[in-house]
Amino acid sequence: MSTPNPLRRVFSYGVLTMTYQLGKRSRKRLAPVHPDLQRVIERAIQLSDVDFTVLEGIRTLEKQKRLVKEGASHTLKSRHLTGHAVDLGAWVDGEVRWDFGFYLKLAHAVRLASIELNIPVVWGACWTTINNESDLEDAIATYVARKKKQGKKPLIDGPHFHLCRKHYPATYKGDV
Ligand SMILES: [Zn+2]
Repeated sequence: MSTPNPLRRVFSYGVLTMTYQLGKRSRKRLAPVHPDLQRVIERAIQLSDVDFTVLEGIRTLEKQKRLVKEGASHTLKSRHLTGHAVDLGAWVDGEVRWDFGFYLKLAHAVRLASIELNIPVVWGACWTTINNESDLEDAIATYVARKKKQGKKPLIDGPHFHLCRKHYPATYKGDV
């Protein structure tokens, strides 16, 4: 069910607690992705301090090729192609915001959800399974240092989350 933004806020026990719900478009984009990733995102929205929208789930190979060409992605083996990845957008004051601080908060919520559900999720800002990371900013710093050492440019993709390839190796493409 989708309701306008202010109505999504739930006030309980006299304490100002806000919980968000996924909107109609987010649910539509989430529907074809792996059910375990759906569970993580559905739980993350309940735990998140920041509202978010699902920007993208499954992606076509054509689009992936274009993104690699543009430097927005480093791989043609993207987990978006198989339904193992989502991109989230921080939704603040009626628009998608790109300030990195929001993405740290989103990743924190996704981490809590993935730990609770025991579903290993990799974040695109550190490219490690965030279930195992105690400090997300440290994890990013470690990733950047590793890339630097390799003489490679880091790709910090805050909106991106995917199911750990080791635990979810299958080429899941949903029901389509
Ligand atoms: Zn992505």
